[in-house]
Amino acid sequence: MKLVSDYFGSMVFDDKVMKSMLSEEDYNTLKRTVKDGRSLNLSVANAVASAMKDWAISLGATHFTHWFQPMTGITAEKHDSFISPDKDGRAIMEFSGKELIKGETDASSFPSGGLRATFEARGYTAWDATSYAFIKDGVLCIPTAFCSYGGDALDQKTPLLRSMEAINRQALRILKLFGNEDVTSVKTTVGPEQEYFLVDKEIFKRRKDLVYTGRTLFGAEAPKGQELEGHYYGVIKPRVQAYMNDLNEELWKLGVFAKTEHNEAAPSQHELAPIFTTANIAADHNQLTMEIMQKVAKKHGLVCILHEKPFKGVSGSGKHNNWSISTNTGVNLLEPGDTPGENAQFLLFLCAVLKAVDEYQDLLRISVASAGNDHRLGATEAPPAVVSVFLGNELTEILESIEKDQPHHEAKEKELLRVGVHTLPKFPKDTTDRNRTSPFAFTGNKFEFRMLGASASVSGANTALNTAVADSLKQFADELEGVENFEAALHDLIKRVIAAHKRIIFNGNGYDDKWILEAEKRGLSHYRTTPDALPHFTDEKNVALFTAHKVYTEREMRSRLEIQLNNYCNLVNIEAKTMVDMAKKEILPAVSEYSQVLSNTILAKTAVCKTLDCTYETEILTDISALTASAYNMLKYLENSIQAAEKEKDAEKRSIAYKTNVLPAMTLLRKDVDALENLVSADYWPIPTYGDLLFEV
Ligand code: ADP
Ligand code: MG
Repeated sequence: MKLVSDYFGSMVFDDKVMKSMLSEEDYNTLKRTVKDGRSLNLSVANAVASAMKDWAISLGATHFTHWFQPMTGITAEKHDSFISPDKDGRAIMEFSGKELIKGETDASSFPSGGLRATFEARGYTAWDATSYAFIKDGVLCIPTAFCSYGGDALDQKTPLLRSMEAINRQALRILKLFGNEDVTSVKTTVGPEQEYFLVDKEIFKRRKDLVYTGRTLFGAEAPKGQELEGHYYGVIKPRVQAYMNDLNEELWKLGVFAKTEHNEAAPSQHELAPIFTTANIAADHNQLTMEIMQKVAKKHGLVCILHEKPFKGVSGSGKHNNWSISTNTGVNLLEPGDTPGENAQFLLFLCAVLKAVDEYQDLLRISVASAGNDHRLGATEAPPAVVSVFLGNELTEILESIEKDQPHHEAKEKELLRVGVHTLPKFPKDTTDRNRTSPFAFTGNKFEFRMLGASASVSGANTALNTAVADSLKQFADELEGVENFEAALHDLIKRVIAAHKRIIFNGNGYDDKWILEAEKRGLSHYRTTPDALPHFTDEKNVALFTAHKVYTEREMRSRLEIQLNNYCNLVNIEAKTMVDMAKKEILPAVSEYSQVLSNTILAKTAVCKTLDCTYETEILTDISALTASAYNMLKYLENSIQAAEKEKDAEKRSIAYKTNVLPAMTLLRKDVDALENLVSADYWPIPTYGDLLFEV
């Protein structure tokens, strides 16, 4: 039997391999430069490249690629072989330090949101040496960041790394104030739980909507849905188990700590969660996980669907972003401590998060905005589009006692809770009645941001979160550095932060409509859809935040907004056109054919005997005819809406046109077609049904 410990990370050029293949001097230089975030000198880079090449070739690799995450949402790679001619024209395998550190790439085919127009088309990729190189399909992949020659970030990774740097800078200032002299770096950690659907490949292929858009644009609900709640944590079927085993093995080889797997709420829906790691590595691993999930599925005659809402009336798929901050000495800064000092530090970091989430609710909302996620947020399976924080009653009460200078009810002798002087009353860490409806929940020693859609990169959300928290920490450090009475100043600061930002705390049911009203009363922002949310990305306060912490330049922000708006429009446009195509070429012709069968039956029956009862045929035919006429009208209406939207030049206005005209037209057409599906004989219905899709695996 193969032992996992023998092959875990076998395809990764990790620390162990580096140590064994590099000279001690080169290894130490590499480690030091990576730690200090400086660039590698060429002689060490050459040594690393050569070792990497030998290692990769020994594992059957012939090519290498700079692996990066452009704004398309998926990863990109361009393969180059190691082959080069020697002086006799024979092939030798080469890979230089220069090729390792920096790659040139034509940036003009990747989304740049207008940056391309004014700047060079060329871009370059630069090695992110904190994320290990790995071998995938015989190709040595080198995780890189992708920028234009002018230095503008064109990818997801660059801003994420910059935001990690920002939070590192500010958190270190705070930690110094608490006397943590041994801490030299602070990193954010992320563990993303990934939801997905598995459907049979042959059935999938017969649905153009799934093939082109990843979601069903038509489909009447099956008689059985998820009402019996029989699937959540249910027994995993053999075919799915075989898939999961294979998937785990592939991920483990790549050094991804895939840890838990279980069935989710909807039929055919599952989840995979890894063990958390440093944010940029978690982002790389999550991209890799999504890619491998889809690849392994094909081998099993399945398709893995990562769309946020593939099926109407059935829970969609999200990605829970578990997030915390930890030091290089191994301390989780969101873990409540045992001593008054540790507790005070914990409370300050907690307050930094509260303040950040309250002040930048809009940015967090925007970071999860996509056409797909619009169908999920605020539906029955996901938090609403309003951001709030769940702390749990115990912790909330503690904050209240501090804010109001009241004794905490658990305190002995009615003692007032003084930050930095007293320890916190114990609160249960892992309450089983955990609130699962909150968009941003404290779960004992980390926060779980639950608004992300299943297909999204986690980079955007973590970039926003890291930067917003860095900003809170900066303000705290500015205020606390150099004060005479640290304890008093700290207590006072924490009190003020709680008072100013407690409106963001909500421990109740986030799915309740009453909460939305209450949230609006509290002045929390509520951007229902992507076109509502996105334009606020470049609001003055947000530009000020990102530029102050050097995470985005204003130009990069404007370009990103442009890209996001275009993505939204393009996605809805493809969906709308796919609907038109399916309705025109598959569904309405089939309905028409079936109508003919009914008419012929009526004619035949009446020919046999004038008084034969044709109620069934006549009534169904009447309903079908009326619905067909209506569907055809809606089809024309949809086509007109698409045309009108396409004409709109301004991206923001165009996105509004898709939202207010095209999407509602799609809903109307679907309504008629789904009603027709319920009337037409199964033999004549041209595409697989929800029953086929959801219950066949
Ligand atoms: P649940 O489904 O109850 O939310 P899971 O065990 O499925 O819990 O997922 C919890 C996730 O949180 C895992 O990916 C885990 O690695 C991650 N996690 C735990 N501690 C931290 C931390 N300090 N920072 C970031 N992620 C964490
Ligand atoms: Mg979770």
